[in-house]
Amino acid sequence: LESKEEFSHKTLAMDVMRPRRSDPPLSVITQDGMSVEEVESLIAETSYSGFPVVVSHESQRLVGFVQRRDLVISIENARKRQEGVVSASRIFFTEYTPPQPPNSPPPLKLRGIMDLSPFTVTDHTAMDIVVDIFRKLGLRQCLVTHNGRLLGIITKKDILKHMAQMANRDPDSILFN
Ligand code: ADP
Repeated sequence: LESKEEFSHKTLAMDVMRPRRSDPPLSVITQDGMSVEEVESLIAETSYSGFPVVVSHESQRLVGFVQRRDLVISIENARKRQEGVVSASRIFFTEYTPPQPPNSPPPLKLRGIMDLSPFTVTDHTAMDIVVDIFRKLGLRQCLVTHNGRLLGIITKKDILKHMAQMANRDPDSILFN
């Protein structure tokens, strides 16, 4: 991989990250105001291991990263145990929860399950550096930004597939080594 890359032009984070141009946009959660129901459908409709949390869809400013399994467990527990948490309850990842309108169900506060400093690189970071960081820090995923806006995600498996492609081998043959 390394030697090949030195001869050809360098692969950058933007070449490996998802979504690809033709893919649907990144599945993100906004930090305030999504309902329990909305987050449950996001979980049901996707199989991603985690979701970036952003300030808003418009800004795409990254706030943190939440693992799918932590979301599932927290929502299940809240529905079972927390007085009054229902489909229409709002989910908050913010530090402070604004007062809810009268007669609305109690909010669900999930800041505690969010990774507040997920690893990020810019879209122009060279992939050999990204690979190095994954190895050294034992990362499972890394987010990609451009001018502070969230653009995409690179998982460990994306990197393994990329390396297999570079080495011109069948991805499945090295994925699980
Ligand atoms: P893995 O890469 O180990 O299968 P995931 O199931 O989380 O891990 O991701 C599957 C694919 O979807 C990967 O190519 C990854 O880059 C991409 N992906 C991961 N999370 C998201 C997300 N929240 N929105 C869109 N694509 C994602």
